[in-house]
Amino acid sequence: MVLLPTESGLEQVYPIVEIFHSIQGEGYHCGESSVFIRFGRCNLRCPWCDTEFDEWEDMTLGQLIDEVSRYDCDRVILTGGEPAMQDLPPLCNSLKAMGYHISIETNGTIALPSGLIDWICVSPKDQEYPDVAIRQREGDELKVVFLGQDMSMYDNLKDGFEHLFLQPCYDESKSVEWNGLNFHQTYEAVKADPVWRLSLQTHKWMCVE
Ligand code: SF4
Repeated sequence: MVLLPTESGLEQVYPIVEIFHSIQGEGYHCGESSVFIRFGRCNLRCPWCDTEFDEWEDMTLGQLIDEVSRYDCDRVILTGGEPAMQDLPPLCNSLKAMGYHISIETNGTIALPSGLIDWICVSPKDQEYPDVAIRQREGDELKVVFLGQDMSMYDNLKDGFEHLFLQPCYDESKSVEWNGLNFHQTYEAVKADPVWRLSLQTHKWMCVE
């Protein structure tokens, strides 16, 4: 059952870095028009992180819905930062009631409420944080950023996901040679174990968000 927010529910505040309309550039839904809601805050600090999540503006649920509604697009992607740190039920119930398809991109360290989200993409960061447990162990898409790690570390995780993606780490702070080598190693890793599919961050090549 979809619950609409009450008047007071629309006053709930979320930390929002940006809301923008673009094309999903990576993973299973690559190429699909989507509205991105980027939340502030993350519980990790990956050294190669390319998103700003420490500065945000508070937006009420009502303002957030108004902003999303401006775009002629019925797909919403919740991202961050770490979107699972937010109170997702009021937001997701509102978006569902309005007919949106909701995806989330999470690092998996916080379990998600069940039945709220249409597409769960977990992108674990255990190559950087091997001691942080992955608590969201089921979903639609597992998207691993490849930095040469031993892929057997995902043997106990990948059964919970239908689609498995391996994505090279594109680190703008590193040299062209470093990135080129990482791309090639990712290419070789997919060839070595074809349960994985290659994901590229095509939005970066197009110089769009
Ligand atoms: S989990 Fe994602 S958003 Fe958080 S620091 Fe790592 S790459 Fe950045």
